[in-house]
Amino acid sequence: MDNHKVLLAVLAHPDDESFGMGGTLAYYARQGVSVYLICATRGEVGDVDPRFLEGFHSIAERRESELRCAAGILGLAGVIFLDYRDSGMPGSPDNSHPQALAAAPLEQVAAKIASHIRQLQPQVVLTFDPIGGYKHPDHIAIQRATLQAFQLAGDQTYIDDLPPYRPQKLYYHVIPKGFLKMAVRLLRIFGRDPHHFGRNNDIDLQALVEEGDFPIHAEIDIRSVRAEKDAAGACHASQLDGGPPRRGPLVWIMRWGDRKEQYMQAIPEEKPVRRHRDLFSDICEP
Ligand SMILES: [Zn+2]
Repeated sequence: MDNHKVLLAVLAHPDDESFGMGGTLAYYARQGVSVYLICATRGEVGDVDPRFLEGFHSIAERRESELRCAAGILGLAGVIFLDYRDSGMPGSPDNSHPQALAAAPLEQVAAKIASHIRQLQPQVVLTFDPIGGYKHPDHIAIQRATLQAFQLAGDQTYIDDLPPYRPQKLYYHVIPKGFLKMAVRLLRIFGRDPHHFGRNNDIDLQALVEEGDFPIHAEIDIRSVRAEKDAAGACHASQLDGGPPRRGPLVWIMRWGDRKEQYMQAIPEEKPVRRHRDLFSDICEP
């Protein structure tokens, strides 16, 4: 068990695991890597059509069950909730709810993640990039907390119930800029406004093209696990407005941009000269 590969993804909402890095998670799970997910909230502020709530007591319960469906398809070894509350989009009153992830002290969130890192002992940790992919306050909050937790878990002077453990690599999932540019162009062609993209029209793709320029240090070809990624995404029916889109510009954009999932290496600071095709390259066996 000592040299067993473990991958930990630290994300904010049910569906982040499937739509962003679902191919990578399935790819490694299929290779026998133990892939764990920490999900900070249950997405309780998501907009959910009442028909999806039949048989459930709350949006949180529904979305947790969707996540467990996706986790089964992706082959995850475990899902851990941090029990924070979804903070909603920037400027919404949910931002300042006492349980909101975005309002929680960074040190508190980081300490929780650090203790899971010490317990699970992943060699590689994944999270969002510093703008949270598309500037969702929860994505930004969990990225900051994960970076701090990565350091904290290995800090000999930080005492909790478990011995120090320092993972070897921290990667940020990055939305490729070429993909964003193409998406903006296609949306304009189809008469859609790239400043108001997404299900809630709250994603400014144009701004992301201008700000989200992160270097790519690793890229995972996910074509062999395309079916798993699609099926895991389909578990999140409450977030898909009656099923995943099957045609139209959105599907073209998604297919074109979604053959590879790309990552920026945050730690170690020494960056690979060429793009890694494996997040576990250069990992030292214990
Ligand atoms: Zn999210």
